[in-house]
Amino acid sequence: MGYTITLIPGDGIGPEIAEAARRVIDATGIAIDWEVVEAGEAVIDRYGTPLPDHVLESIKRNGVALKGPLTTPVGQGFRSVNVALRQSLNLYANVRPARSLPGIKTRYEHVDLVVVRENTEDLYAGIEHRVGRDAAESIKIITREASERICRYAFELACKQGRKKVTAVHKANIMKLSDGLFLESARKVAAEYPDIEFEDMIVDAMCMKLVQAPENYDVLVMPNLYGDIVSDLCAGLVGGLGVAPGANIGTGAAVFEPVHGSAPKHAGKNKVNPLAIILSGVLMLQHLGESRHADRVMRAVNEVLAEGKDLTYDLGGTATTSGMADAIIKKM
Ligand code: NAD
Repeated sequence: MGYTITLIPGDGIGPEIAEAARRVIDATGIAIDWEVVEAGEAVIDRYGTPLPDHVLESIKRNGVALKGPLTTPVGQGFRSVNVALRQSLNLYANVRPARSLPGIKTRYEHVDLVVVRENTEDLYAGIEHRVGRDAAESIKIITREASERICRYAFELACKQGRKKVTAVHKANIMKLSDGLFLESARKVAAEYPDIEFEDMIVDAMCMKLVQAPENYDVLVMPNLYGDIVSDLCAGLVGGLGVAPGANIGTGAAVFEPVHGSAPKHAGKNKVNPLAIILSGVLMLQHLGESRHADRVMRAVNEVLAEGKDLTYDLGGTATTSGMADAIIKKM
């Protein structure tokens, strides 16, 4: 069966890793017609916006996209295209698995957890303003609807993947109303899943426990900002941003992208690790129901990692981006 899939190469290191992922996925033999569309700073002059309508239309039409990272200017300029895309398409669940990989030396073994991050509200709602010249205010939005929806997603994911425990992460001791509502929603949803163990944890304690004993955790569900931070921490437990994939899931569309950003200082050097986007491609194949092909890519990745010959700099090797993709394709 064939698919049409939107491909947003992104900017910075985006185009080179996106090309690597496209080649690996094409090597499965699945017939994919890649609809390549550009977004970000580079298209502002052409379309008057970093997120043109035809990009959103393409994702809506195809239902699935693979995306490279897009740069967001710091402190000024346009709002994050990544956040705008998730909000426009209502991609409410950001799913970021962190799993120990063969051959990658880290401080931990046996990490196998999933961060489920609420993707549409919290401080990412983008409601902020200056209060006079010397103060600024950002508004944190938490709703019952979005909180229950993301918690239900986390429990359903736990059921589907045979996972045992869901931990809700919050700061309800301080933000009694907003995070309090998130926690209340998590407890309500947890009651619907008596077979899955439930606990809640304050975000600072969660960070400490994750670096002490990450193997104790399974599915973590949390509001947007904590999810952004904790998922980078979890990437660090299993080998860093170079190996951390992600999925943004909504009811009508899904966008698969690495956790990392556009790493501009490495752009165009054919140097960075393509695994995060390749593993995002594996999540995409699973989402499409192509588990056999997803497993094939995963097996090839594991073999390359276990051999340790074709690794990029971040994993202690000297391979290029394209060279690592070639090695994976050869194993397939
Ligand atoms: P970053 O993730 O781009 O890079 C931080 C560092 O991590 C890099 O300098 C590099 O050392 C390492 N790194 C990242 N990806 C790697 C890879 N594939 N292989 C090897 N090493 C890798 O974070 P940043 O520098 O804070 O952000 C750069 C830009 O990316 C910013 O504009 C930010 O807004 C944007 N960003 C975009 C997304 C997205 O598109 N979803 C996500 C995060 C950040």
